[in-house]
Amino acid sequence: MSTSSAGGSDSSPAAISAVGLRKSYGDKTVLDGIDLRIPVGSVFALLGANGAGKTTTVQILSTLISADGGRVEVAGHDLAAAPQRVRAAIGVTGQFSAVDGLITGEENMLLMADLHHLPKADGRRVAAELLDRFDLTAAAKKPASTYSGGMKRRLDIAMTLVGSPRVIFLDEPTTGLDPRSRHTMWQIIRALVADGVTVFLTTQYLEEADQLADRIAVLHHGRIAAEGSAEELKRLVPGGHVRLRFTDPHTYHQAATALRETTRDDKALTLHIPSAGSQRELRALLDWLDAAGVEADELTVHTPDLDDVFFALTGETSEVNEANHTNETRESVR
Ligand code: ATP
Repeated sequence: MSTSSAGGSDSSPAAISAVGLRKSYGDKTVLDGIDLRIPVGSVFALLGANGAGKTTTVQILSTLISADGGRVEVAGHDLAAAPQRVRAAIGVTGQFSAVDGLITGEENMLLMADLHHLPKADGRRVAAELLDRFDLTAAAKKPASTYSGGMKRRLDIAMTLVGSPRVIFLDEPTTGLDPRSRHTMWQIIRALVADGVTVFLTTQYLEEADQLADRIAVLHHGRIAAEGSAEELKRLVPGGHVRLRFTDPHTYHQAATALRETTRDDKALTLHIPSAGSQRELRALLDWLDAAGVEADELTVHTPDLDDVFFALTGETSEVNEANHTNETRESVR
C-alpha cells in the first residue's frame, strides 16, 4: 500500500483504513467523518452505546451498504473501486447469525464451501477441519436449530472462515453468550490473530475490548471520541479512588462531615476518596479513618478501567457498572 493511501503513512501495512467516512439516514448523521487505520494482524475494537453506529461502520467496511462520503481501503483494495476484491478478502459475522437452523452444521459448512466455489473434495476437507477446530464434530450431523447459542456462534465463525479471509469483521460476537462461551470465543479470536488474520470487532463489553484489542476506538455522536490501547485510554480518565459504603445514614453523615476531601453520594451512602490504591496510601487512609472515628461497612479500592473511560467520554453514568467492576478488591474495614 502506498503512503498516499487512505489512512496515512505509517510504515506498517494497514488491513483497513478509512478517511472521512460519513453516513446519514435522512437528517440523522450516524457517521460524521470517521478516520481509521488498522494494522495487519491486529485486533481493533469499536465501542459505542446502542445506536452509536457500530453496525453501520461494519456494514460500510464490509461492502454491505455504501457510505455517503470518505475513502476506504480494505485488504489493500479500494472499497468503492473494487468491492468484489474486498469481498473476496473478508469474512463477516453479523449480529444475526447466518446459520440455517433447518439443515445440519455440516450442511451449513458445505453450503459455504459451494458459495466459495471450492471443489467438492476440498469443501469436505475444509468443512471437516473447521468443524473439528471449533469442537463441533460430534454435533455436525444434527440440525443447527438444536445447537446452543455458543455452538451456533462457533458455527457462524467456522462458516466465515471457509473462504480463508484475511480480514474478519465480528459484530458483537459474544452478545448473549454465557461467560464460558464468551471465553471460548475469545480464545477463538486470539487464535485467528495468531494466524495473522486482522479482526475488526464491535462490542458493548468493555472487558472484551480490554481482553482482546490492540487498539480501541470509542464511537460517540458520529465521531471517534478517543482511540488508543486499553492502557492509553485508561490514562485519559482521572485516577482511582477508595469507596466507602455505609448502611446507617447517621454514620454516613458523620463520616461525610469528618472526611471533607471526598466526593459524596448521599443516595447510595457512599464516599469516594481519591487514591491510587497503593499499600502506603491505603495504610495512611486507614489510619486517617481510625483517627476520624469512621467505620465504613465496606471499603472498595477502585482503579480506573475501560468502563470509566467509556462513561467519561460518552457522558453516561451507571450505578450498575459501579457494582460490576471487576478490578475492585473488597475488604471489610474492620
Ligand atoms: P447497537 O449496539 O444497538 O447494535 P450500533 O452502534 O450498531 O447499535 P447502528 O445499528 O449502526 O448502531 O445504528 C446507528 C443509527 O442509525 C441508529 O440510530 C439506527 O437507528 C440508525 N439506522 C441504522 N440503520 C438504519 C436504516 N436502514 N434506516 C434508518 N436508520 C438506520
